[in-house]
Amino acid sequence: MDIHEYQAKKILSDFGVTIPRGGIAYSPENAENKAREIGGTKWVVKAQIHSGARGKAGGIILCDTPLAVAQATDKLLGKKLVTNQTGPEGKIVNRIYIEEATEIKKELYLGLVFDRSSESIMVVASTEGGMSVEEIAKQKPETIIRSKIEVAVGMQQFQAREIAFGLGIEAQLIRRAAETIIGCYRAFSELDATMVEVNPLVISNQDQILALDCKMSFDNNALFRRNQVSELRDKTQENSNEVYASDRGLNYVSLEGNIGNIINGAGLAMASMDMIKLAGGEPANFLDVGGGATPEKIVKAFKLISMDEKVKVILVNIFAGINRCDWVAEGIVQALQKIEIKVPLVIRLAGTNVEKGNQILKESKINYIEAKTLEEAANKAVKAIGN
Ligand code: GDP
Ligand code: MN
Repeated sequence: MDIHEYQAKKILSDFGVTIPRGGIAYSPENAENKAREIGGTKWVVKAQIHSGARGKAGGIILCDTPLAVAQATDKLLGKKLVTNQTGPEGKIVNRIYIEEATEIKKELYLGLVFDRSSESIMVVASTEGGMSVEEIAKQKPETIIRSKIEVAVGMQQFQAREIAFGLGIEAQLIRRAAETIIGCYRAFSELDATMVEVNPLVISNQDQILALDCKMSFDNNALFRRNQVSELRDKTQENSNEVYASDRGLNYVSLEGNIGNIINGAGLAMASMDMIKLAGGEPANFLDVGGGATPEKIVKAFKLISMDEKVKVILVNIFAGINRCDWVAEGIVQALQKIEIKVPLVIRLAGTNVEKGNQILKESKINYIEAKTLEEAANKAVKAIGN
């Protein structure tokens, strides 16, 4: 799960990281008042969307007066921002963060991610903040510092200081820089984050070390024990089909292709994706309806797939072990009574009660293409698009 910049900053500040003064606004008047409240002579108006690279997309506006803050807010609110991270569909700006502008002396990069191969947390830092870590890796790879943190031990003072020294931070700021880096680490490990990225981490003209921008992502499987994190979820920033699916207990990931899938079991779903690719097709989604998918769940799955306009054919692939093919077949028949499917439907049933399942489908007179094996199903789905 991703959260907004202002939420991530609040978290970091609770862990001792300094952030600029700021406040959230939902209207231009609100924003103008916030600017006066914050005080100072310069403000930054920041579009809150679940994406970085907002600056290049016009989502970060520097303002000289509270009136300009109101105008910038008016311009951004309700607007769709397309960044190089959102995909062409972009993301809608529903919240604006107003911040006192910082006079920047130096922009640094600080990121924390999981390093699964070494089962540790990797801290990545660079003197070239402001640009994306991918750009830094391409243009200034020699500036990148990596520090591996053993999870069982946690980040030690000396490691944080080493990173700070590596960033060329002046002696009198090392202590504060180390506290900042440790604060980010603690936020990461204590809240089950999967990513914390402060870009830029800046040294101001007044020699403050500030998190000027922050992105945080969290482990969905740990949200049950992180109430203060899970309540930060903003569904308006997520793929609407994925939200629909997760609200209904379906394991769904939207993909780019045009073959919609309804499959029971994550492993079978993965194998089906491979088979579709092998047959020359592209899956429109990953959808695991679960081992014991009830007819109701199958109906929900059909609803979900039929909401996706990319889908040109639907492939149902069920291997019933715990499940029973006759239940699934009943679910399919019920679904097709409720929802009008305008694209070809390929169904492959195998396993427990397969004869009964196929019989239900045949007797229902629904219009579908039968397949016996996974390979046959994938080939027939790809072929059905061409027809
Ligand atoms: P992003 O484009 O989504 O990563 O948004 P950021 O919050 O990182 O802002 C992009 C860039 O705008 C930063 O790298 C800074 O160069 C600039 N910027 C953001 N806030 C301030 C500020 O308070 N003062 C100044 N001078 N520049 C800022
Ligand atoms: Mn940034």
